[in-house]
Amino acid sequence: TQALNNLTVLGAGVLGGQIAWHSAFKGKQVVVYDLFEESLQRCQLAHQQYAAIYQAELGASQSMISETQARLSYSCILADVVINADLVIEAVPEIPEVKTAVYQEMAALLPAHTLVATNSSTLLPAQFASATGRPEKYCALHFANMIWSMNLAEVMAHAGTAEDTLRAVTRFAIEIGMVPIPIQKEQNGYVLNTWLVPLLSATQSLITNGVSTPEYIDRTYLIANRGCAVGPCGIMDIIGMKTCYDVMNYWGNEKQDAQLLADAVYIKQHFVDKGKLGLQTGEGYYRY
Ligand code: NAD
Repeated sequence: TQALNNLTVLGAGVLGGQIAWHSAFKGKQVVVYDLFEESLQRCQLAHQQYAAIYQAELGASQSMISETQARLSYSCILADVVINADLVIEAVPEIPEVKTAVYQEMAALLPAHTLVATNSSTLLPAQFASATGRPEKYCALHFANMIWSMNLAEVMAHAGTAEDTLRAVTRFAIEIGMVPIPIQKEQNGYVLNTWLVPLLSATQSLITNGVSTPEYIDRTYLIANRGCAVGPCGIMDIIGMKTCYDVMNYWGNEKQDAQLLADAVYIKQHFVDKGKLGLQTGEGYYRY
């Protein structure tokens, strides 16, 4: 199986930042790419926060943190970031046109051996396989938010993915401490988001329609699900409001679902437009 030591992460947002930091912590050489310089700066701030979390929660030593930092670099120049990549993980916004454009731009620049994986929450790798220009070397590798404690990696092929690609990507996931969850059939949302997206959509509709409040919904959830630490409104804050909006807006249009579209509008007006992106900016449904 192909060794995947040099990782490039496309998109320096919530998940891209976590995947990059965690992979570097586990010994991979990582380059983080973003279209915007300010997103790279936010990502570096997030990495400082992760350093503190890894020390407090995982017992990481100062030298482990310094070594992690030394394995990370950041750039806005796509041609530079892919030149040495063994694996590219795409974590740009959950907007198909954006993902397609990034894959197409990258296709001409990638070394022949490089594997590509999408971290998309709800879209299928089949949708982007041809844009990558290397369908046999492409699959989904989906991580969960708070990667250091929710160490899942869902691995999902499209019809044209080579067995070798799946094997190498699964090995990579194991090397960085994930529990690989093979998905046997292409499905929007894998296992995790097949239940999480409907839960969050139902939660949002209770708020959009004025049926209940975030506090009462989360209280109901926590009492009904003993042992859970976070309710669905808290989960939306952790995911980030922009990604929640992108998912509800895309699927609302795709399914012509008026409730989902109303939920998307609610999130846009109350959060995204006000810069309240959830945990990452210190305020969403809750203040942090
Ligand atoms: P985010 O909005 O936090 O980050 C997206 C990043 O992509 C931003 O930094 C943005 O500047 C950058 N970007 C925008 N356009 C770009 C382009 N053309 N080229 C390069 N970079 C560009 O989003 P996120 O929550 O990190 O989500 C990224 C992907 O990961 C999505 O597909 C999402 O569904 C998936 N995902 C998110 C979560 C989560 O909990 N947030 C969990 C699993 C998977």
